[in-house]
Amino acid sequence: MNEEKVSKKNTLEERQPFISLVQANKIYAHGVQAVYDFSLDIFEREFVVFVGPSGCGKSTTLRMIAGLEDITSGELYIDGVFANNLEPKDREVSMVFQSYALYPHMTVYKNLAFGLETRHVPRDEIDERIKQAAKILEIEPYLERRPRALSGGQMQRVALGRAIVRKAKVFLMDEPLSNLDAKLRVQMRSELVKLHRQLGSTTIYVTHDQTEAMTMATRIVVMKDGRIQQVGTPKEIYDHPANVFVSKFIGSPAMNVLTVTYKEGTIVFNNGHSIKLPAKIVEMHDYIYSAQHTHTMHFGIRPEDIIQEGYPTLAKELSKPLAVEIKLAELLGNEYYAHADFDNEPIIAKIPAGKDIFEGDQINLCFDMDKIHLFDIESGLSIEKMQEDKKHDEKK
Ligand code: ADP
Repeated sequence: MNEEKVSKKNTLEERQPFISLVQANKIYAHGVQAVYDFSLDIFEREFVVFVGPSGCGKSTTLRMIAGLEDITSGELYIDGVFANNLEPKDREVSMVFQSYALYPHMTVYKNLAFGLETRHVPRDEIDERIKQAAKILEIEPYLERRPRALSGGQMQRVALGRAIVRKAKVFLMDEPLSNLDAKLRVQMRSELVKLHRQLGSTTIYVTHDQTEAMTMATRIVVMKDGRIQQVGTPKEIYDHPANVFVSKFIGSPAMNVLTVTYKEGTIVFNNGHSIKLPAKIVEMHDYIYSAQHTHTMHFGIRPEDIIQEGYPTLAKELSKPLAVEIKLAELLGNEYYAHADFDNEPIIAKIPAGKDIFEGDQINLCFDMDKIHLFDIESGLSIEKMQEDKKHDEKK
């Protein structure tokens, strides 16, 4: 009987979001709107990353969840409870900032204990929780030190420790790694992922760094100008960017996006070079633009989906090759970022570093036809996204 109860509870939990934002808007006192109609359900144990350029409203959204900013309009639910007006301390969330925010005159132990003491947690339990957190974070040898005697990475661990000892159900992290040097950042990235697996705490993480988003998130929310652009797993977002902005923001070097003419099942570049599109794409195109046989579009291809003619590839179908002139060849050890002029627009291709490539060389490039993207010239939306929206509208 008990088992049945448990399994029912689990399915219910699976369906119920742990944090919900419904049409949340934020307008600051001087009238600047930082967030528009932000709606998102976050489920227990997710690691959700808000990513986008500086000023796009990531921190504001996080701070509305933490209770550090009022929500101008819209609703916030935490664990099913309407939370717009809950005090930050009553939200069971714990925030980790970029600046660590450690007390300089207190030892690491005291820094970890402080928040719990103010909540009147019994001394033994505080001690127990600190030892546990210190073990997880490997900061046991530093408990009696003051923050100034710690490295950046150690300070960041202490800041995380403070969130862990609080046993908050939700960790909110605002660019927690941006003060660390590049090597430590990479190391802490994997440590945070491990920590998340270990603790199973729901995490919302803000960063402007798409690599952090791609490597850490279970789900990514891409934002721009206060609006959500796309929500999806890293793979969904990388393989199926919903618009030109997302396609260029996620991935490094960025996706190449060129303006082309769509003409009866082919795309024609400005230099006259044309490639025939796969039937699947033409079908999608015709479904959206029924009568438009010739019009301007954006064409996108990632640098790794451009193949040098004659090189081995897993691609099932390649476009016919086009000769381009290399303007710059950046060697990264095992591969080149080959900058070339295509269609009077610069493109970058990732090419294996088998043979030396020099500026001025002519090479033949082909596109992996399964990996091309087409975007609407006006809205910037991908045709995949437009197809999905149109089907959705037709169902209504
Ligand atoms: P991000 O975290 O993506 O860099 P923010 O949420 O910090 O973006 O900021 C979003 C917008 O809101 C920006 O235009 C910023 O200038 C503005 N903003 C942020 N905080 C305040 C504030 N306290 N008062 C007024 N405007 C603010």
